[in-house]
Formats: sequence, structure tokens, C-alpha cells
Amino acid sequence: MNPDTPHKLTDTVIKHDFCIGCGACTYVQPEAFKLTKDSFGMFKALPLEDHPEDGKPEQVCPFSETSINEQTLAEDLFPEAHIQFNGLGRYIRACAGYVAEGSYRSKGSSGGMGKWLLNRLLEEGHADTAIQVRSHPKDHRLFYYDCFKKGDSVLDGSTSAYYPVTLADILTHVRDTPGRYVITALPCFSKALRLLCRQDPILNERIRYVIGMVCGHLKSEAFAECLAWQRDVPPSELAGIEFREHIPGAKANDKGVIAYKKDGTCTDVISSRQLIGGNWGHGMFKYPACDACDDTVAETADITIGDAWLPRFMNQPEGTSLVIVRSVFFDNLISEGIKNQQLTLEPLKQAEVAASQDAGIRHKNEGLAYRMHLWQEKGMWHPPKRVHPHVPSSRRKRHLFKLRQEITEASHRLFSEAKAKGDFNYFRKEMSDRLEAYQNLYLPLWMRIAKRILMQLGLFNLAVRIKDAIAKKKSRR
Ligand SMILES: Cc1cc2nc3c(=O)[nH]c(=O)nc-3n(C[C@H](O)[C@H](O)[C@H](O)COP(=O)(O)OP(=O)(O)OC[C@H]3O[C@@H](n4cnc5c(N)ncnc54)[C@H](O)[C@@H]3O)c2cc1C
Ligand code: SF4
Ligand code: SF4
Repeated sequence: MNPDTPHKLTDTVIKHDFCIGCGACTYVQPEAFKLTKDSFGMFKALPLEDHPEDGKPEQVCPFSETSINEQTLAEDLFPEAHIQFNGLGRYIRACAGYVAEGSYRSKGSSGGMGKWLLNRLLEEGHADTAIQVRSHPKDHRLFYYDCFKKGDSVLDGSTSAYYPVTLADILTHVRDTPGRYVITALPCFSKALRLLCRQDPILNERIRYVIGMVCGHLKSEAFAECLAWQRDVPPSELAGIEFREHIPGAKANDKGVIAYKKDGTCTDVISSRQLIGGNWGHGMFKYPACDACDDTVAETADITIGDAWLPRFMNQPEGTSLVIVRSVFFDNLISEGIKNQQLTLEPLKQAEVAASQDAGIRHKNEGLAYRMHLWQEKGMWHPPKRVHPHVPSSRRKRHLFKLRQEITEASHRLFSEAKAKGDFNYFRKEMSDRLEAYQNLYLPLWMRIAKRILMQLGLFNLAVRIKDAIAKKKSRR
């Protein structure tokens, strides 16, 4: 084997588990890679034996050693986008609000912007086909990319799919079916699409617009199974799931879960906060690749949509979209929507946009810098990133970032074991120490010290029992 060219992706991204399963490599060299689901329920590329890489896969993989980074791609794509801010890439304008017409907002994840944009592009003839994620079960998948034409109800697309999806099938469809396409994409998928378009003139001509989603991280299939199992829907009975039901009267970031069973029934809505796995900060069931990601806001997409989680929108459980506009075309479309009173949007300052994605940006900046340091310490390969290895000075932060990685790894392994045993309580019990350690990191310093002293004196469990008894008594009054 020539060490300079063949098997480059195999020996780096794939060997070290940084594959997000986008399917770009399988598209450019199908004889060398195949897309499969791994044993934890995540799409991953599998190198096929006896077929050396020809160099193209490395150029289109969002995590490879040599692919062009988001910043350079965005400079080429959006020369008019002059606002630049750390963690947000470049853009023309940013705003927050919702779709004022139809049921886009009530049926959307946040303010309904995603599907409204798709519908406008189809209705006004800017695109022939909208590709978005759909949530009807197919081939054992609860969510998958599908095509929508003018006249189809784009509202049949899913809300946020915290579930593995891949571009693999849809790319082949675009190559084989002439037309102008718009597609919704997570930041790494948007990057893969842009890299593919630089390689492949057909895709470049047909994929006209990318609508990006803000992204904290992507989950394996086990996330859906874990939430549903706690509602007495075991993995074998799960037919569908809604992760983002609006809960009347709740805070905007408090989202409801409904699990659908194969017998046609469904569970009541419950806040994901009440379920193990529902705390996004824990990072349970996260793709390992997401720990090597430095794009929170889809810097290569024409327009990005997310949640405007800012204090002034928190009391609106109907949802408020964050909108970051990068291309002149979408800037005009948004202006028209506002003028025609189809959209209610207000401008956001750069610091407000960043504040609305504070946790995600921190994890992909300070957290990533520390993870890079740890990988390098182990002598492990990792994708080149725009941040540099760095060790946070705070011991608490170092502990937090490490614990998150440990929780992610344990959640994949222990849930798989729980499924084999048919026992959710096994998972609950085995995860509990790690989750408690995580919660402890968020206690104020005095409480952490008091807890440690009580534990050393063997009095901690007694103190917890007294606290619980007082709380029970109070709630009875
Ligand atoms: C894995 C994941 C992580 C996310 N993390 C964050 C976060 O940390 N912070 C934040 O502010 N927002 C995050 N979002 C985005 C957020 O959940 C909403 O999807 C977004 O606010 C759009 O809501 P909307 O009401 O404007 O759009 P809607 O009108 O609800 O339209 C949403 C569109 O997105 C498409 N879609 C759903 N899931 C996927 C997917 N996996 N891949 C491609 N297209 C998809 C749907 O088909 C639909 O067209 C995440 C989304 C996903 C899928
Ligand atoms: S991230 Fe995408 S391109 Fe890279 S190896 Fe995985 S499937 Fe292939
Ligand atoms: S966190 Fe990054 S790598 Fe993970 S799904 Fe989101 S954009 Fe892709």
C-alpha cells in the first residue's frame, strides 16, 4: 500500500471514529465505501476491502485531514456577508421571531421558519424539489430524507430529528434526477454538500440552496429508544417519536416527547427533562464525531435556523426561531416575508446571537480545545480544527468536559447491554453515578464542600433522607 494516498480516510476519520455518516465518501467512490449502521445505531462509512481510496473521498469528507474548512468555503460562497463574529461565521443579518401565517409555528420545532422557507422556494419556483427530513418509519428508520414538490404539504416534514440521518440515498437521487433542489442540513452535512459541489458539476448545478440548522450534537438511534422505553414503549415496539411537542405554559426550551407504538397507540406528552437522556448537557448517545466539531451554526449554509433561546423569548412555548442570513437571495426573501406580514422577525445583535447558542459554542470552542489536547496527549489522530489545543485553567471545567465524554461513551455501551438484557433499569442504575457526578458539578461551591464533608462523616445519606422528608411534608401542606 502506498502510504501517501490510499486508505487515507480509512486510517484517520474512520479508524478513530470521527465519521458522522454523511455518505459523501460513498457517493464519490462507492466501490471503496459502503454506509452501514454500527452496533450502537449510528450511520458510519465502512471501507470495502481490496478497493483503495482514489483521493476523492478525502476531499469531500467534512472531518478529513485535507478538506477545505468552513471559513474558506463561506468566504467563497458569501462574499457579501460582511458581519463576522467568533463562533457565528460570516453573515448578512440575524434575527429572531416566527412565521405569522398558517400553522408553521404551531407545527414547527421553533418558530416554523424551516418549512416556511422550503414552501416559499417551491411556491415561487426557485426550486423544483425540497429535500427535508420526514418522520414516517421506513426500513427500520424512524426519520429519513425525502423529496417534496410544489403542492405537497411541506408540513409533513419532521420537527427536529435527533436521530441518525444520512445523505447517501438522496445524493444518488439528485444525480439521477434533473431539477433544482433545496435541502435542509446539519452544519457538517452542509459542509459535505459544499465540498461535494466543488467536486461534482451535476450536484453543483442542481443543489441550489442549503438551509442549515444550528446543531449542538446528533444522537444515535438509542436516544429515541431510551426516551420511549421510559414511557413503557420498548425498542421493539417503537414506531415513531416526536421530540419537540410544544408544552402549553412551559418555558420555550422545555420540549415534550411523544412515543408512537407499532399497534397505532401513542403515549401522553411528557417533558424530556423528566426522562434520562433528556438533559442535552449530558451528551448521552452523541456521535463521537460531534466532539470534534467546530461549527455550531452551519457557517456554509445560505441561511441557518435554530432556537432563539434568549431570556425575552423564554415565556413563549410556541417557539421562536433564530435566523442567520448569509446569502443575498435569502436576505431578499426574508425582507419580502416581513413586508407581507408573513414573518414576524426582529433584528438581533451579534452578542445576542452568540448568547442564544452559548453552551453549544463553548463546547465546540473551549471544550474542543481541551479534547484536542487530550487526544494529542494520547498520540491519537484527530481532524484539523480552527481552534488550538488548550487546557482550561479551571479544574471544574476540565472535569466537566472529561465527564461529558465519559457519559457519552458509557451511554452507548450500557444502553446496548440493557437492550440485550431487556432491562431498562440496568441502564438507569449503571448510569446513575456518572449523572450524579455531573449534577454535582453544577452545585454552588458551598454545597459541594458541605456534601464532601457530610460524605466523609458518613452522614450524607441521612441528610438526603431528612431533606426529602421535609420536601414531602411541605408538598402535603
Ligand atoms: C440534531 C439537531 C441538533 C440541534 N441542535 C440545536 C441547538 O443546539 N441549538 C439550536 O438553537 N437549534 C438546534 N437544532 C435546531 C432546532 O432544533 C430546530 O430544528 C430549528 O430551530 C428549526 O426550527 P423551525 O421551527 O424554524 O423549523 P421547522 O419549520 O420545524 O423546520 C425544521 C426543518 O428541519 C428539517 N430537519 C429536522 N431534523 C433534521 C436533521 N436531522 N437534518 C436535516 N434536516 C432536519 C425538517 O425536515 C424541517 O424541514 C438542532 C436540530 C437538530 C436536528
Ligand atoms: S463523515 Fe461522511 S465522508 Fe467522512 S467518512 Fe464518514 S460518511 Fe464518509
Ligand atoms: S455537532 Fe457537528 S458533527 Fe455533530 S451533527 Fe452537529 S454539525 Fe454534525
